[in-house]
Amino acid sequence: MPSRRLPAPPLELYRAKRDFSVTPEPSGDVGAAQDGARAYVIQKHAATRLHYDLRLEHGGVMWSWAVPKGPSYDPSDKRIAMRTEDHPIEYNTFEGTIPKGHYGAGTVLVWDRGSWEPAGDPAQGLADGKLLFTLHGLKLKGQWELVRIKPKGGERGDPWILFKKCDAHARSKRDYDVVRALPDSVGPAPPAAPAQPAKRARNGRVREAAGVTLPAAAVRAVPPATLAPQLATPAGGLPTHGQWIFEIKFDGYRMLARCDGAKPRLVTRNGHDWSNKMPALIDELAALKL
Ligand code: MN
Repeated sequence: MPSRRLPAPPLELYRAKRDFSVTPEPSGDVGAAQDGARAYVIQKHAATRLHYDLRLEHGGVMWSWAVPKGPSYDPSDKRIAMRTEDHPIEYNTFEGTIPKGHYGAGTVLVWDRGSWEPAGDPAQGLADGKLLFTLHGLKLKGQWELVRIKPKGGERGDPWILFKKCDAHARSKRDYDVVRALPDSVGPAPPAAPAQPAKRARNGRVREAAGVTLPAAAVRAVPPATLAPQLATPAGGLPTHGQWIFEIKFDGYRMLARCDGAKPRLVTRNGHDWSNKMPALIDELAALKL
């Protein structure tokens, strides 16, 4: 029988471990329980040992697991995930350095964020030691599962395993290692208010609200009136240098989507406006709010 925790005030353990006069981490409050989208975040934490803190919002706090190796898109990779104390929702945007000598000393960055959807009752899933859920993150998508396992002899703590369920997002570890391929911060969540104008960071780069960093030479400008799409060109062999990928060529109509604040438009390669012929696609483009 998995042991159940005695009910303790939410975030009590979180606060007991930290000295908020020293650490830059938020002391945080219990948030309102959400009926809608529940927040999901993974923070990459370069503490004594590098690990990835997976957090799932429930009941006004973030359920948390420390995953030493981080997530894998390969369903055969079962990653150890140690349950840790619930964190405040406010912690989701925390990036910074916890000072030496303090709990969790080291740097924290927001490695992934988005929302999660439990399959079934998540509180029951947590109590039963089996949580099935879908992630809508910037890096992690599709179905994932957390399963509680027995601690090894003498081991303290609450070990679980995290793994990818087989679905269209699953990938073999031989082809793709998300932790190595995408090591960087996605930036804290964008403000709920309309997008901020681009700000120039100290290094001169333009930092977009969505966390995208543009080259230093980038200049904000109105999109050109027309654009020419890239065309396939015949070649005698495969490239021998540089970065390249294979793309299967599907035959059809090549469309340029123009999203410049007004209603999106679809224009053919020869400059004909086909927006009226593809209303469903126009709706999808409008929903992106580019
Ligand atoms: Mn941590």
